[in-house]
Amino acid sequence: MSANYFKKYPSKDGFYKEYGGAFLPPALEAEMKKINDAYFAISKSHSFISELRSIRKHYQGRPTPVYYCNRLSEKYGGRIYLKREDLNHSGAHKLNHCMGEALLAKYLGKKKLIAETGAGQHGVALATAAAYFGLECEIHMGEVDIAKEHPNVVRMEILGAKVVPVSHGLKTLKEAVDSAFEAYVKDPINSIYCIGSVVGPHPFPMMVRDFQKVVGDEARAQFLEMTGELPDSVVACVGGGSNAMGIFSGFMNDEEVDLYGVEPGGRSMNLGDHAATMAKGTPGLIHGFKCYLLQDEKGDPSPVYSVASGLDYPGVGPEHSMLKDIKRANYVVANDKEAIDAFFELSRLEGIIPALESSHAVAFATKLAQEQPQKSILVNLSGRGDKDIDFVMENYGKDYV
Ligand SMILES: *Cc1c(COP(=O)(O)O)cnc(C)c1O
Repeated sequence: MSANYFKKYPSKDGFYKEYGGAFLPPALEAEMKKINDAYFAISKSHSFISELRSIRKHYQGRPTPVYYCNRLSEKYGGRIYLKREDLNHSGAHKLNHCMGEALLAKYLGKKKLIAETGAGQHGVALATAAAYFGLECEIHMGEVDIAKEHPNVVRMEILGAKVVPVSHGLKTLKEAVDSAFEAYVKDPINSIYCIGSVVGPHPFPMMVRDFQKVVGDEARAQFLEMTGELPDSVVACVGGGSNAMGIFSGFMNDEEVDLYGVEPGGRSMNLGDHAATMAKGTPGLIHGFKCYLLQDEKGDPSPVYSVASGLDYPGVGPEHSMLKDIKRANYVVANDKEAIDAFFELSRLEGIIPALESSHAVAFATKLAQEQPQKSILVNLSGRGDKDIDFVMENYGKDYV
């Protein structure tokens, strides 16, 4: 990997080899170009960088620690370390890019942040950022998800956000995206659309990666300080791919470090039962960009499923799609059962309850540790599991407790 990787990707038009881009109606295309130009002008300025650094330190509690898992390593072999994004303010990595996007909105003089949310995690992180900056926040959410994810709806409302119910189609994430985009297009002067992962049209995958890169930069320095060397492997779960892109970015130029993205294998590898986009998808278009995609014969995104609702997206970030093709990163699968096992394992051996999303990464790490007991593994623990405890106990409790 050449040292100028980040100068090369994405290209000026937002391409990572054949993936990415911005496939949009002309009106939106113009808006994206404005955001892109503003991003380059503002985000490299001294005042933007200093303010974001200060927010990360004093508000988010960064740097988050890197922690060596003594008992987990003893049981599975290898040396397993966690980058503790579960200790980032609001309990997951998502706030890293939400604070960046909201700071950009402030510099642009915007008054309102607009986004969709599926399970509600992105909505809560963005509502947090909006409260911090004193911006309005409008979160579009399918009615099915509103009923399912009640605690996150309440959190958003407490934080002062307006939750807009979406009642057409399947009433879930896809319709919420359409609805949020519609609201944004109606008022692009006062509002800005804030995406929840390294997906969507250019420049979003690049912006979100850049804001998440802090995870990898911190982790690399911390790991070196703790051990005197780099980890042999870096592991992260992949939904859209933001937490994985964040930690991978810190090690992109270290070719000796193996990168593993872990996708959800769900309840089976039949179409509709999983969200393993890299394992089973083919290149296609979704939400204005090109990536590996789980699609039906007509090229429409197919239904997806995972026990971790933050991972069930039929597409994936364009940069991951490229990293798979050029073989810089490996993409593997952990299923529901393995994730639930890992959820309890990390809770009981280390006293850390992981998010079900992050549990997929832990599950693969324990497998890798058994195969390569002499090696070190750094896992991005993307979030804490408090949001999942009721669901896990209701559905799986009797097998474990
Ligand atoms: C949303 C979420 C994910 C998946 O999103 P990525 O963009 O793939 O990182 C993973 N972990 C947690 C805790 C999440 O909330």
